[in-house]
Amino acid sequence: MKVLNEMTVTFESRSVNEAFARTAAAAFFVSIDPTVEELADLKTAVSEAVTNAIVHGYRDSFGKIKMKVRLLEGRIAYIQIKDSGVGIEDVALAMEPLFTTDPDGERSGLGFTMMESFCDKVTVRSRVGKGTTVTLFKQFTEKERA
Ligand code: ATP
Ligand code: MG
Repeated sequence: MKVLNEMTVTFESRSVNEAFARTAAAAFFVSIDPTVEELADLKTAVSEAVTNAIVHGYRDSFGKIKMKVRLLEGRIAYIQIKDSGVGIEDVALAMEPLFTTDPDGERSGLGFTMMESFCDKVTVRSRVGKGTTVTLFKQFTEKERA
């Protein structure tokens, strides 16, 4: 699918950068004038993916997170979030609702479920010891012409 616009940012896996990442992704799409709700949904999904990279991917360490944001033909937002952390052993299991590896019961295991409900498509590629790449696709509605 044709790429109409693109940006890439790389940031440290610090929790303060979660807000930066979701705001930066939303700001990228402002020019095509999505609805407030569409932008809010996108930000929630980005937030979940980035939080996962920070808390699971890099656990007690720090590393780089790369976010590639594209506007594709047909008002489709493409957001790829990549970490070089611990990776996921069983992606299908990790994506099941309520599945979590969090030992202290602070997490609900609903991050992937939220990404899937707020986006049109979510793909996950991961290799243990190498890292995880999550790609979100979301189509913005067509604007009515006055
Ligand atoms: P919640 O998102 O509700 O706070 P959670 O993060 O555990 O809880 P999900 O976001 O659905 O739930 O992720 C499920 C599981 O997938 C995580 O518990 C973790 O084991 C694994 N996981 C997700 N993202 C990554 C990642 N980037 N690197 C390594 N493991 C990950
Ligand atoms: Mg999560």
